[in-house]
Amino acid sequence: MQQRKKFVIANRMDTIDASGVRKMFDLAVTMDNPINFSIGQPDFDVPDPIKEAAKAAISGGMNKYTQTQGMPELREAIWKQASAEFGWTNPGDHPILVTCGVSGALLLAIKVLVNPGDEVIMPDPHFVMYRHLVNFADGVPVCIDTYPDFHLDAQKIADAITPRTKILLLNSPANPTGAVYSRQEMEDIAEVARNHELLVISDEVYNIFCYDEPYLSFAHLYDHTLLMRGFSKTYAMTGWRIGWCTGPPNVIDKMTMLQQYSFVCAPSVAQAAILTALKTDMTQYVNAYRKKRDMVCEILGEKFDLVKPGGAFYAFVPAPKGMDATDFVYKAIEHQVLVIPGNVFSSRDTHFRISYATTDEKLFLGLRILCDLV
Ligand code: PLP
Repeated sequence: MQQRKKFVIANRMDTIDASGVRKMFDLAVTMDNPINFSIGQPDFDVPDPIKEAAKAAISGGMNKYTQTQGMPELREAIWKQASAEFGWTNPGDHPILVTCGVSGALLLAIKVLVNPGDEVIMPDPHFVMYRHLVNFADGVPVCIDTYPDFHLDAQKIADAITPRTKILLLNSPANPTGAVYSRQEMEDIAEVARNHELLVISDEVYNIFCYDEPYLSFAHLYDHTLLMRGFSKTYAMTGWRIGWCTGPPNVIDKMTMLQQYSFVCAPSVAQAAILTALKTDMTQYVNAYRKKRDMVCEILGEKFDLVKPGGAFYAFVPAPKGMDATDFVYKAIEHQVLVIPGNVFSSRDTHFRISYATTDEKLFLGLRILCDLV
């Protein structure tokens, strides 16, 4: 009998390299009770009323496919909240698509919009998924250096624009830096986007974790924004896989079509529970995270030259002088503290990311260890 051919993986998989992150996770499982500052999710649990709503949804039979774009009641509730925030009056101008998290929205958007060779501008450093998704669509990630303060200079964006530029990808508050863009900065960026008729994807998955000023969405300043919001971080439900997206109706229409033939719909139980989540006040959780952010700045500030992060739950900290970040990360791991080297998110390996989404006790202990290593 003829030998079965090896299963040949499609070439497009060569465009994805997750080795940096995987190495860290592999290391984490070999460690005995580490102080884990590597995890990008809240340490609190989903608030009880939302859990109860999910249980009731299962018992009540909400276990089937929903409409591809999401349950009508949920889309209406999201629309109500968003229209109050943005002053929108016509639902047809801002159709809501409920997605499998912001990741789901990003995948749909990039696949729907990016032709081979199209350029997508993004900050460096950035959330790891961005460049891989663009590569996966045969697009070209174009990175704008944001060191040392991680703010985006509109002029640098303007200089990077070519006839192939299609999308500008923004993320504020940002992963991995915690940077929150100021109104002026965003207005300057919006002007560049307007002049070049760019579509801007605004990834606002950390919108509630904004500590020093009221949150400002890019969608307030620029019409051609594909706005993405998530529930993963807001309600600590990263495993429930739910978020939403709105933007130019023709783009949302095609994203919905692609969702129909890929994800089908966002999880029905999560959709039902979000109706309760939208009424749940998360202020106490945000206040607790602001305090953790302050603790990070106070303690690490003694030994590291870090920029104060304004949001999310990350700090992007320069490695001690004369050391690259990966070497420092291995040193930290030897002392049971798990952090992620900057080259996972960036072309540089000068910084490391800490996620301070952990208990105050572990945070204090881990920060002291990091300081002692300098
Ligand atoms: N965008 C950013 C900037 C993130 O950091 C993450 C997760 O870490 C996501 C999107 C993915 O969020 P979701 O769980 O909603 O897919």
